[in-house]
Amino acid sequence: MQQTDSTFLTGSYARLPGHFFARLGPTPVIQPRLIKFNRALAADLGLELNSLDAAALAEIFSGNRMLPGADPIAMIYAGHQFGQFVPQLGDGRAILLGEVRDSNGTRRDIQLKGSGRTPFSRGGDGRAAVGPVLREYLVSEAMHALGIPTTRALAAVATGESVLREQRVPGAILTRVAASHVRVGTFQYFAARGDVDAARLLADYVIERHYPALKLDARPHLALLRSVMERQARLIASWMHVGFIHGVMNTDNMTVSGETIDFGPCAFMDAYDPAAVFSSIDGYGRYAYANQPQAAQWNLTRFAETLLPMIDSVPERAVELASEVMATFAARFAECWLAGMRRKLGLFGAEDGDLDLAEELLDVMHRNQADFTLTFRRLCDAAQNGEADAGLRALFADPSAPDAWIGKWRSRLAREPQAAAAHAAAMRQVNPAYIPRNHRIEQAITAAVESGDFSPFAEFLEVLSRPYEARKDREDYANAPQPDERVLRTFCGT
Ligand code: AMP
Ligand code: MG
Repeated sequence: MQQTDSTFLTGSYARLPGHFFARLGPTPVIQPRLIKFNRALAADLGLELNSLDAAALAEIFSGNRMLPGADPIAMIYAGHQFGQFVPQLGDGRAILLGEVRDSNGTRRDIQLKGSGRTPFSRGGDGRAAVGPVLREYLVSEAMHALGIPTTRALAAVATGESVLREQRVPGAILTRVAASHVRVGTFQYFAARGDVDAARLLADYVIERHYPALKLDARPHLALLRSVMERQARLIASWMHVGFIHGVMNTDNMTVSGETIDFGPCAFMDAYDPAAVFSSIDGYGRYAYANQPQAAQWNLTRFAETLLPMIDSVPERAVELASEVMATFAARFAECWLAGMRRKLGLFGAEDGDLDLAEELLDVMHRNQADFTLTFRRLCDAAQNGEADAGLRALFADPSAPDAWIGKWRSRLAREPQAAAAHAAAMRQVNPAYIPRNHRIEQAITAAVESGDFSPFAEFLEVLSRPYEARKDREDYANAPQPDERVLRTFCGT
């Protein structure tokens, strides 16, 4: 038997009072087999597991064998799901093993997802299928490589067991790494029970862990609201800039750390459409692409409600203060969004007309079903060289449709002192060539599930790790789907 190196987990969350979680371990699996281990992330987390072979890693990341120091728990939380409050959810198929300190000294959670039933499983089997595990691995790692705050994927392990979804499918476990797993819904769980002491303890835990500077603030809990709002405004803007649709922005899927979490029915859009919805469970388009800022604001308002008793002992005063903060969300989001759009368009400075310029482009893209990612990527070439316009125009149903806009954009660029090459180079750092396109994810999953072939998954993952670097031998991955390749629906797969 190999020994693990000197990796020790701690458990700050597991030291909170007992009603914050259920203490239990993962349910062992029959025959774990390592699909993927994220060595770079493991190194960043200081996990000294490099002497271990695949079989030993599979034992650990299936939950069959505990890392030293692990104090496994299932966290409790509540949440609004599509607007309906559910007073108790909780980790129904996840186990938090503990925490490590990464190379920055930041505490990070290590959680197994798909690790068996817990007291919060309700009707579920506590397991995960290989498809959703690969999807989360690909998309969360792509988000990270794109520079967007997100939970990460440390490992994927096949369990050797099957799970029953629409049919029997192979099971898998994902090891998720997060700044923490505290959600808006975690606060709601205690607030809904009128347990102000627990909510306060949780708030203080979150301040200590994620926002330590706020301890000095005259009103730390109001400042917490402001800080979470700021991180979410930035986060949602950055989703919008890469065409990401989360798909299930329920309050239990919104972290207070500001990381993207839960990649169930998410998707990156191909053709630009503000009304795009992929999630099979979002029948009314509540979480459509362009609704995401409003959805975030709604969730943050639910968060604010849980903080009221801590913000001020006079309820009216607390409401007034929290409302003042919430009233700034729309403007703050708009600022983040416009700043990012300027970068996407290669603008170093700011002019009053920039908002119109950005919106006009999106409008002509929408009317001409232009591919979101390719349009911005080809704009990088067009910024450098007018001869590249043909490739850009070819993305529009009517190739002459963007001409008037291109003219305005060129004049706007010409009013900046930087050389064309400087605009283009800056644009190539924010407009990705590669995103986890839905049809590619499906192809990788199909190969894995139907033929046990994980090589398309591994190759795609490698491409996504350097999204801003166009590579001649990887051109296929940049392409939009052919009409017969389009995937219009994504499923939670729970
Ligand atoms: P999600 O849709 O992943 O945000 O999950 C919502 C809730 O359902 C959470 O409490 C999950 O833990 C729970 N859940 C999802 N899938 C399962 C499953 N297969 N078994 C048990 N609980 C689950
Ligand atoms: Mg969730």
